Amino acid sequence: MSKPLFGVYGASGFGREVMPLAREWLLSQDISLDRLVFIDDGMDTSQAINGHAVLKYAAFLAQDASERMVCIAIANSKIREKIAAQLSVDHVLDWSIKANNCVVMDDFQIGHGALLSPFVTMTSNIRIGKYFHANIYSYVAHDCVIGDYVTFAPSVHCNGNIIIEDHAYIGTGAILKQGTPDKPLVIGRGAVVGMGAVVTKNVAAGETVVGNPAKPLIKP
Ligand code: UDP
Repeated sequence: MSKPLFGVYGASGFGREVMPLAREWLLSQDISLDRLVFIDDGMDTSQAINGHAVLKYAAFLAQDASERMVCIAIANSKIREKIAAQLSVDHVLDWSIKANNCVVMDDFQIGHGALLSPFVTMTSNIRIGKYFHANIYSYVAHDCVIGDYVTFAPSVHCNGNIIIEDHAYIGTGAILKQGTPDKPLVIGRGAVVGMGAVVTKNVAAGETVVGNPAKPLIKP
């Protein structure tokens, strides 16, 4: 009888960071680790990576399996969205993974396909959309509303009463100033916050901001 097959999509940097979390989950369910593979369309598939076979997506679909579950461990949100659409067409199930040491406090709702890395903290009354990534040591504080395909690099400090729209990318160590219930701080759709930026004002959709206090990036 065929068995479920599990995939971590992306075998580059983030994928190799997510794989140990995926492995831990399979072990907790008494599922053999040979049912867990990397999926990567651009990598050499002749050699295993960190003990797991690497398959191109077509090869993953061709494996014998009762069902397929995949997490998309690729930081680029547009690629994530494209792959998510394809997985849906192919009836591959979303797989959310949360490190065991994440802290989640009160009234926390998150969409499918999320990846929460070790030491991530979510406090209270938080809403997050689908395919969210929070890399190591990031936090989201009270009353934040975060859209779909949002990406947090490591150590993002997202304080209370902040709205982050779809496809925004928040760089390593960025600090987002808290808003208020009547005037939340807003990071617009597809905006990019540079690493180490201290964001004190709203960021317009599609804008890139850097520095302290964060200002729009002027390209040379
Ligand atoms: N990739 C893929 N299919 C796609 C787009 C990307 O398999 O349609 C793979 C790509 O080959 C690479 C990985 O996704 O190995 C993305 O790695 P990258 O270093 O760009 O990002 P990160 O690991 O930091 O998210």
